[in-house]
Amino acid sequence: MNRFPKERTIFAIFLLGICASTGLCQSNSGRVPDRTPVLLIIVDTVRAYRLGCYGARRVRTPAMDALAAQGVRFDRALAEVPTTPPSHAVILTGTYPMYNGVRGFISGLLPKGVGVLAEAFQRHGYDTAAFVSSAVLESSWGFNRGFQEYDDRFNVRQVETSNPAAIERRAEETVGRLLAWFQARPTGGTGARPFFVWLHLYDPHARYDPPEPFRTQYAGHLYDGEIAYADSQLARLFEYLRNNRLYDRTLIALLSDHGESLGEHGEDEHGFFIYNSTLHVPLIFKLPSGMGTPHVVRRLVGIIDVAPTLLDLLHLQDPLSRQFQGMSLASDILGKGAGRERPVYAETYYPRDSFGWSELYGISTAQFKYIQAPRPELYDLLKDPQELHNVYAERRSLAAALREQLIGIERRYTSTQPAAPAPPLPPETVEKLKSLGYIAYSGAAQPAAAGPLPDPKDHLKVFKAVMRAHALNEAGRYEESNRALEPLATEEPRLFVIPFLKAENLSQTHRWHEAEKSYLDSLKLNPTFDRALMGLARAYMVEGETEKARPVLELVIHQSPRDIFAIHALGRIARLEGKNEEAYRYLLKAAEAKPSIAIFQQELGITLIDLKRFQEALGPLSRAEELGQEDPRLEHYLGTALANVGRFKEAVDHYQKALKMKPDLVEARLSLAFAYLNLGERANAKREFNTLCQQRPSLCEHYRKQFE
Ligand SMILES: [Zn+2]
Repeated sequence: MNRFPKERTIFAIFLLGICASTGLCQSNSGRVPDRTPVLLIIVDTVRAYRLGCYGARRVRTPAMDALAAQGVRFDRALAEVPTTPPSHAVILTGTYPMYNGVRGFISGLLPKGVGVLAEAFQRHGYDTAAFVSSAVLESSWGFNRGFQEYDDRFNVRQVETSNPAAIERRAEETVGRLLAWFQARPTGGTGARPFFVWLHLYDPHARYDPPEPFRTQYAGHLYDGEIAYADSQLARLFEYLRNNRLYDRTLIALLSDHGESLGEHGEDEHGFFIYNSTLHVPLIFKLPSGMGTPHVVRRLVGIIDVAPTLLDLLHLQDPLSRQFQGMSLASDILGKGAGRERPVYAETYYPRDSFGWSELYGISTAQFKYIQAPRPELYDLLKDPQELHNVYAERRSLAAALREQLIGIERRYTSTQPAAPAPPLPPETVEKLKSLGYIAYSGAAQPAAAGPLPDPKDHLKVFKAVMRAHALNEAGRYEESNRALEPLATEEPRLFVIPFLKAENLSQTHRWHEAEKSYLDSLKLNPTFDRALMGLARAYMVEGETEKARPVLELVIHQSPRDIFAIHALGRIARLEGKNEEAYRYLLKAAEAKPSIAIFQQELGITLIDLKRFQEALGPLSRAEELGQEDPRLEHYLGTALANVGRFKEAVDHYQKALKMKPDLVEARLSLAFAYLNLGERANAKREFNTLCQQRPSLCEHYRKQFE
């Protein structure tokens, strides 16, 4: 598809011309009213030209098209990073990845010193709320800062999946949560205070599985079906806003965090390269009604500009603006003339983090795109919008000038605060790791490699083969996945993802001992690969070898202190070993970091019962139940906590619930019998005790006297 069709260019220039010469695009007052509510919508993984308003013909996106028709559409907006958490860090902080530190899945969380957009709105009297649809954006990254409400609840059964990118909720559920939030506000959302709401929808992200009727309507191009489905949920949201007289008053910004390659350049999804198929995104601003004139802005902008634009449009003088590295687009939006054009930066660390190949950096200008790679690339976007003809060899001096600009951006915007060096790993942990055959650990922060890292584009065949094996794993076809990996392992003996994927396939089929060996093979090639470390720890734990699992988990936390799953696993180990105080400390940390994970709340509550802190246990146990955890053990423990603080009637309800789920849960039966005794209901107590005697005669003998 032609990326920047000529008709639209002419149309946009025409409109800009009118704006400049007649002032027709000027707003009535030229100023967005103070305290205007703001809705920031990020639909994940939407490539610009897959929306109707950007020229797509095979997809129906009436809600987003209408928004564009009423607002200002940026025709050439680029994401700075083609992966979800780093791109969101750019959008929500208005800073480059080299400043905010979120560069990939294995980088740390947002540093405390970096401010977030919601904090600015909160300081200016806004009610703030976020509704996210993917676990990769859950609160522990720090994106929740400044939000009074951060709704990141996911299906409890999905939480233990090792790949957070696979944990999502559909737009219908997320939009439903947002509508409930609006309804809980006075007068259906108008409220006494303005709102800043961030809605994140994840449906267009792989896998593409839209619900009906989109699945049928878009058979054969389900990616479009996901976009159409997300659009239908936005239509539902906009209708609610209209019915509650909020739509016209609200400033709405809509964009995506990155595109989707859909097979171009040999990449199916996003993250591996930095071509425009994964960087070019929709960007639309709809002003409150009566403001400005709908138009299209043709010039190149980055989504790093969104946060500065929102504060500028609302005249919010806030300390956050001191950190901004993007520039306000308010002048373009209000029709007061085009802002200063400047190049847009891009980077991806995904090839390095996941394969040990080189990271990529890039810079785009109105006409050219330069990619800094082991074999550099240069594209003339006007002649070659699809970036198919590398003209680096012919235009060396131009490439050198762009490279200088790229280095300049990196130098200027890199955080000046050096990250605190991590303390060394305790020697006893190092010794234990060595004894497991994990001898490669040297404290290196990156995969060990001799010489310069390979160029990702030279390894496309291997990348695709690994992705195929990965897809087979995700589809539950573990044997096939391993067969696909075999020839690769011979071809690419240094590629740590190959033994890792093999280990994942083996774990899924419960071949734990072989899985252990493969995880160790992966770690020999890349000693800091966190997913292999977690897999190895899990294998040890399943086999009851907690002594071996512990140092591995300690290493994970040493590398990434925010790894809550490792903290939680250490808590579990401590509980198994009867070290309840230690277990409590770990489990509290995990539950505080991710309060919406039911199993964390449940285990914290159970540990408090072990510690005989019954009143305190009630909080986390009740929360686990509220979060939808359905587990007879949870009901039994809730009953136990209640009975121990003298609330026997409520205890009976929970014991009965437990027994309804699992009638042979003898400890719940016994507890129920005792609760009835305490309530003076002897007949009920005896009846339950007799049932227990049939189920477990040995237990019955032990307590018989008390029920005679
Ligand atoms: Zn994304």
